[in-house]
Amino acid sequence: MVAKKEAEEEGEGCELSMKITFLEKNQNEIKFLVDGVDDVFMNSIRRTSMVGVPVMAIEDVEFTKNSSVLYDEIVAHRLGLIPIKTDLKAYNLPEECKCKGKGCSVCQVKFTLKAKGPTTVYSGDLKSKDKEIVPVYDKIPIAKLREGQEIELVATAVLGFGSEHTKWATGTMSYYNYPKYNKVKEPQNEKEILKYLEKIKELEAKENIDTEYVEDKFVVDFETWGQLNHREIILTAISRISDRLKEFNKKIK
Ligand SMILES: [Zn+2]
Repeated sequence: MVAKKEAEEEGEGCELSMKITFLEKNQNEIKFLVDGVDDVFMNSIRRTSMVGVPVMAIEDVEFTKNSSVLYDEIVAHRLGLIPIKTDLKAYNLPEECKCKGKGCSVCQVKFTLKAKGPTTVYSGDLKSKDKEIVPVYDKIPIAKLREGQEIELVATAVLGFGSEHTKWATGTMSYYNYPKYNKVKEPQNEKEILKYLEKIKELEAKENIDTEYVEDKFVVDFETWGQLNHREIILTAISRISDRLKEFNKKIK
């Protein structure tokens, strides 16, 4: 009893019985189960992870030369969609920076691009001022240049949110309720869960089976675009939700 009382005083008494089981983990993709939450909770995590965590993307492009067949706007749009490795400890959001959004070395990163045809210009041709802040992938094509065609530009990347523009989205997260179908044996251990989920999907695609879905248990898939890893994204999302709740808590009377 004493132990229980102490635990309650430390706040452990209100701990929810939530369980997370990791099923699969690749470089940019994870799959896991969350047990003991409702879909409102899951959706807050999903939306905030995707569009409420800041990442780097190119926002401004100044062209000094562009004799390619692509308009400046098209090249700029393509540059904006290139995922860029992000360091949230080293950079500020422009609106939260000491420079008040004017632009400085801790809220923006400059890239230069110089290319002359015949060649294909790739994301890897962007030269960054910060060796940590570079395109996630080197082989994203930007433009094809013929003999004599040239592109020269300076691009500026800043942190932003996917809720403002999809170029700042961190990835895509989806979830569905954990299925139960009495003619397929329930998995006995973690290794069997993936096979079990696939088996049910297969059956559902073939015929109309009466699958039941567990209300408070979810299968979550998260694929990141590589600017941050999945753990950094989810932890940042949780801290942003928690900050907003604290703010709400302060202001409610
Ligand atoms: Zn600044």
